[in-house]
Amino acid sequence: MGRHWTGRAAWAEIDLDHIRYNASRLCRLLRGGAELLAVVKGNAYGHGADATAQAALEGGAARVGVACVEEGVALRAAGVRAPILVLGHIAHTEAADVAIHRLTPMVASRQLALALSAEAARRGERLPVHVKVDTGMARYGVRPEEAVPFVRFVGSLPGLLLDGVYTHFASADLADKAQTRRQWRAFLAVLEALRRAEIAVDCRHCANSAATLDLPETHLDLVRCGLALYGLHPSASVRRVGLRPALELKSRIARVCSLGAGAAVGYGGDWVAPRPSRIGLVPIGYADGVPRLLSNRGAVLVRGRRAPIVGRVAMNCLTVDVSEIEAARVDDEVTLLGRQGDEEISADEVAGWAETINYEILAGLADRLPRLFLSGGVVVEATTLRGSVPVARPRLAG
Ligand SMILES: *Cc1c(COP(=O)(O)O)cnc(C)c1O
Repeated sequence: MGRHWTGRAAWAEIDLDHIRYNASRLCRLLRGGAELLAVVKGNAYGHGADATAQAALEGGAARVGVACVEEGVALRAAGVRAPILVLGHIAHTEAADVAIHRLTPMVASRQLALALSAEAARRGERLPVHVKVDTGMARYGVRPEEAVPFVRFVGSLPGLLLDGVYTHFASADLADKAQTRRQWRAFLAVLEALRRAEIAVDCRHCANSAATLDLPETHLDLVRCGLALYGLHPSASVRRVGLRPALELKSRIARVCSLGAGAAVGYGGDWVAPRPSRIGLVPIGYADGVPRLLSNRGAVLVRGRRAPIVGRVAMNCLTVDVSEIEAARVDDEVTLLGRQGDEEISADEVAGWAETINYEILAGLADRLPRLFLSGGVVVEATTLRGSVPVARPRLAG
């Protein structure tokens, strides 16, 4: 697809058909009428929040989730009309933005509840909110024993409407589900206490990608999937259901340089050619989200073969050894994430090299990377730092 791209020679391709497919695949797994919330925080884990949210909704997601108010406001500006849950911290000083843009906030403090209620009441509205319960992660949420009084307090405020109650699992991606089952039982006890207090809760939710795939009993009214929507799995032990990775990271060789044995490459000169070598320069670096830990460790694909990264990954470029790939030349497509022929470099493999998790590899992809959005095999939209830009349409064959 990159052959129709005339912009910067480093970009991400996001297949919106795969996002739609993954959303509908996840929807088909859901139990008992549960709905899908597409988690698109962190610029949709690097995939580009606007187009990804839209595709997830087309694939069957009922709501979207973001981490902060700013992300929600940006989605509204892009035309997303579905409910937008703000799953992370909201400063009480952001209450006006929440109300103006009809975001659905997570509340777990009286201070925020009061600020949101005042703002909504002033506008003559009632704002739906979701109360978060901390069942064992010790981050956001009210304690289980505070849940009933806190929900009562929320219900007593003139500007708020209780829409949901939720919790978040700490270890659902582990093969050992004991900790998750403890959290699940604690959450069920909270829901039972609310029922006994005759408090109706429309939307009860707790499952992330790992729980959605591995623990169907936790689907309740809604599941919140991020990673699975992007076609990846939270860990090697989580059940595979044929999800399709949606993102490829690509560049092009900018220069090929022949070195004699003993010549050094890049900052610090800590890779030295052990024999006469051909080095390809790839104009993508850690400011684009390629981890510096890939220095002298990772690999890329060129002409369907692996080329090891040699020398240090710099801010704006990296170097690969193409000595074994004789045909390699300037302008060859380079795949840093994705597939070329039978070879594939997954976010999981890159995460291994970078001593982190696939989530961080994707979420770390920088805003300055152009993003090409594919649908039906053609680029339907391209975004850069300038916003949306025109793309050349492929010529019809024949
Ligand atoms: C990020 C997040 C999710 C999604 O997690 P995945 O493992 O990517 O599915 C779900 N719920 C909350 C509260 C989150 O912050």
